Amino acid sequence: MAFRFEVVKADPSGARLGRLTTPHGTIETPAFMPAGTAGTVKAMTQEALEGLHVSLLLANTYHLYLRPGHELIRRMGGLHRFMSWPGGILTDSGGYQVFSLADLRKVSDEGVRFRSHLDGSEHMLTPEKAIEVQRALGSDIGMVLDECIEYPASQARAASAAWRTLEWARRSKRQIETEPPGEANPEQVFFAIVQGGTFKDLRRENAAELVALDFPGYAIGGLAVGEPHELSCEIARETAACLPSDRPRYVMGVGKPEQLLDYVRSGIDMMDCVLPTRNARNGYLYTRQGPLHIKNAEFADDPGPIDESCGCMVCRRYSRAYLCHLFRANEILGAILNTHHNLYFFLDIMRAIREAIAFGNLSRFSSELQARLEAGHR
Ligand SMILES: [Zn+2]
Repeated sequence: MAFRFEVVKADPSGARLGRLTTPHGTIETPAFMPAGTAGTVKAMTQEALEGLHVSLLLANTYHLYLRPGHELIRRMGGLHRFMSWPGGILTDSGGYQVFSLADLRKVSDEGVRFRSHLDGSEHMLTPEKAIEVQRALGSDIGMVLDECIEYPASQARAASAAWRTLEWARRSKRQIETEPPGEANPEQVFFAIVQGGTFKDLRRENAAELVALDFPGYAIGGLAVGEPHELSCEIARETAACLPSDRPRYVMGVGKPEQLLDYVRSGIDMMDCVLPTRNARNGYLYTRQGPLHIKNAEFADDPGPIDESCGCMVCRRYSRAYLCHLFRANEILGAILNTHHNLYFFLDIMRAIREAIAFGNLSRFSSELQARLEAGHR
């Protein structure tokens, strides 16, 4: 199956219901991607992910490149076969982790030189190398290398990163078109990433230049790096409006449950975030009445489920008391059950959003959902 995207229904709010076809299945959008960092969604088996109807997950190129190495994964037939995952996989370019995790990084027009956070070994990530590594991994959707900047950043800094990101996208495009595709997944496609910080004119300019290069999809990078949520949505909306309506749009690294709908209404089709999985391992669980810390004394003898209105396997079977005990005793099963519930919670919000767009009642759904989710934060 070749890559394809179609907008099934456009909502007056800007939200879109879509269908993304990849060599590893069809993904209903808007979609939330669990973080499968090192070729595993932490504490989840692939069987459990299938049980949650996960159709697309994110894997991090930086982590897999350093360990076990993209060449090994290539020899194992690509990441799908290596991790035994039949569904879709999206890989990032590795850039974000280089900018956030690696030591001694040095950015030049050529690429980023950095030291591994694992063993201190020195590496060079160029736009060409990012394509080569992702082709060895054989993900369904890869990302071109971009320059990520901090928030707040000056307009001059944001402009230079956006310009470099554009140059790197040009080089990536050349590499994609002149070098043969990876054997593991010859139908793999690459998305470009729009940068430009919090400056709308830079975003518009960067988007227009990237659109001229004609990528099959576009990501909006450099958001959720510390800026206020309203600004983040504004930039997402502004940028999305400059992107072709027949291509998928992906905002990287967002968001909180009460924010997902805001991005959807900004015209975004795909999102990923470590929050449900990472927070689960810290005993921070999402409910429709707001989040809770399962380790708290009030749950030690609470026979009820995490969330009365949750339909997940964990809420149907296990009590808060038991989960509180598992967490306090540092039992592996605690992380497994907490992760299952939190992922279900995020995926269920996206499912409900898709349903609301399909039935044309997103605005009513939206005010109900916001009120409910925000209630827990007051
Ligand atoms: Zn649940």
